[in-house]
Amino acid sequence: QAKEDGRNGFAFYSPALNRHSIERLAFESELQRAFDQGQLQLHYQPKVLAADGRIKGVEALLRWPHPDMGAVSPARFIPVAEETGLIVPLGRWVLEQACRQQVAWKREGVGDLVMAVNLSARQFSDENLFDDVAAIVAATGVDPASLELEITESMLMRDIERAMSLLAGFKRMGLRLAVDDFGTGYSSLANLKRFPIDTLKIDRAFVRDLEGSGEDQAIAQAIITMAKSLGLNVVAEGVETLPQVDFLRDRGCDELQGFYFSKAVPAGELAAMLGR
Ligand code: C2E
Ligand code: MG
Ligand code: MG
Ligand code: MG
Repeated sequence: QAKEDGRNGFAFYSPALNRHSIERLAFESELQRAFDQGQLQLHYQPKVLAADGRIKGVEALLRWPHPDMGAVSPARFIPVAEETGLIVPLGRWVLEQACRQQVAWKREGVGDLVMAVNLSARQFSDENLFDDVAAIVAATGVDPASLELEITESMLMRDIERAMSLLAGFKRMGLRLAVDDFGTGYSSLANLKRFPIDTLKIDRAFVRDLEGSGEDQAIAQAIITMAKSLGLNVVAEGVETLPQVDFLRDRGCDELQGFYFSKAVPAGELAAMLGR
């Protein structure tokens, strides 16, 4: 940004801004290097059926164990990858990795789990997304009915026409589609029902204080009722306590995901969990 403020290539950085931009550049190149050297990993967080606690699927979540910085949160590095554009090749890697894992678990008899993969805004607006997804599905041999793409309301609402045709294409391919972090965006019910969505994921923000907040109870209840009446599968994220489990199950939420059951774990650990 500072570059644009300067004239003829000059920019007047304050020392603080300067330090900030240097740190930022270092972080960007560190992230690129980590990706190039294969240091980013995928972990898998189970989603369980509210009715009987069986693991029905998993969400693939990126992990960056950094030798000096420790575990770097995706909440920190995904936005950076978005800005630099790294998210596009990184997202392809995630999708391919996740599909291969789905196929391997099925082949090994671990289970035929629905594999959910997050897409971010830049990936969603990338003009090659559809072809990339189709190529990865074909190359890995994953059953498209076992692959779910998680997108957010804001991605749908940015360019509704484009989103509709993209989603229609994914449905023709046989994929499952989920709206992530539902309730935090601006999509109206009227808009939502126009999209061929299979699943709504209730944002963690409404689950966190369920026990103490009558308002959050009302919101969670309303989302579940609405999802059911639209014929959608509904998942609650960020479930951490038994009272939350009971509330959500009693209100008809189909699936639960959260630390109460498990955090995201490496593939081997998930297989062990399913073996029990
Ligand atoms: P998300 O897709 O909404 O993923 C759920 C986040 O909630 C994950 O954070 C998960 O670890 C966390 N979570 C799950 N259960 C609980 C719980 O009971 N309590 C609490 N406090 N947190 C819980 P994570 O892994 O840090 O990821 C953050 C976000 O980064 C994700 O939000 C997603 O938007 C993005 N992200 C992660 N991996 C990928 C990826 O492979 N591609 C893209 N495009 N985005 C990703
Ligand atoms: Mg997600
Ligand atoms: Mg989410
Ligand atoms: Mg979230």
